[in-house]
Amino acid sequence: MSPSPERAITGPAITGAAIVAGVCGAPIRHSMSPLIHNAWIAAAGLDAVYAPFAPTEDRFETFIDGLRGGAVRGLNVTIPFKERALALADTASDLARMAGAANLLIFESDGTIQADNTDGPGLLGAIEAQASGYDVAAAPVVVLGAGGAARGAIAALLLAGAPQVSLINRTLARAHELVETFGSRVVAVPEEDLADHLTQAGLVINATSLGLGGGAGPGAQLDLTPLEAVVVDMVYKPLRTEFLRRAAAAGRRTVDGLEMLLRQAVPSFEAFYGQAPPAEVDVRALALRHLGEA
Ligand code: NAP
Repeated sequence: MSPSPERAITGPAITGAAIVAGVCGAPIRHSMSPLIHNAWIAAAGLDAVYAPFAPTEDRFETFIDGLRGGAVRGLNVTIPFKERALALADTASDLARMAGAANLLIFESDGTIQADNTDGPGLLGAIEAQASGYDVAAAPVVVLGAGGAARGAIAALLLAGAPQVSLINRTLARAHELVETFGSRVVAVPEEDLADHLTQAGLVINATSLGLGGGAGPGAQLDLTPLEAVVVDMVYKPLRTEFLRRAAAAGRRTVDGLEMLLRQAVPSFEAFYGQAPPAEVDVRALALRHLGEA
């Protein structure tokens, strides 16, 4: 459905019946989720809004508890609240439970909260879109980083059949925590053994914040991977990170973090507004303009 001419002239008409959802994190100022969801809302002509929320870190639980009952339909949750969001939920999807983190909360009218994690499906969707035909079940995966993003990714990769995930993290103890969470298909690898694991990897994922803002990415020697390996960077600012540029220079297929971000937003939109995002709006082009990449 395209927006009515009236809506196009006056801009979004939010009535008293509008569905309200949003994203919560600290800081939240740089989140691209409001841009993405409100573009879809406008293109679908929905009476709805998607707003940013930045509760203070010590008041997160109070803030979320106050939303029980459904006055706000749902929230995406980002750094640093994903683990605490899961702990507050009454029910959680397998993915959220496995990941130990939630990036989506839905507030039901009976006062309960449902938690889900769409980061992993976003990653798998991005791989499907930009490395078409790659089978995550076919070869071991190397994941660089052991934070919240790595947790979501590993849960989805294991559920999709990845035979092994080798985890490298600056703080090795944090990688060991994930091994405890996920079990024997995940191994914590010291930095000095990374090269051996790269030679076997079908997929290499940067889930650290290295490279954010244009700095050097993780130092992994990507040319050690098999030629058909796929390299993913979750960092999307800049779009072509140093890590992805090195992968492309070595002839490996690459998947960017923006595609993952856009794909993780889709199931959230569906959960909030009860319909798929309209296909006719090119949110990737919009996001690229916002990032100064187009
Ligand atoms: P996080 O929980 O804060 O984890 C950060 C990770 O980066 C940890 O593994 C940390 O290692 C590592 N790290 C940070 N600085 C480092 C350094 N100087 N050297 C080596 N390792 C370093 O953050 P997160 O939520 O997992 O997010 C990680 C990245 O993914 C961020 O850039 C985020 O924007 C991006 N992300 C993208 C999407 C998307 O949709 N594209 C979704 C989620 C996240 P230690 O454990 O040693 O501190």
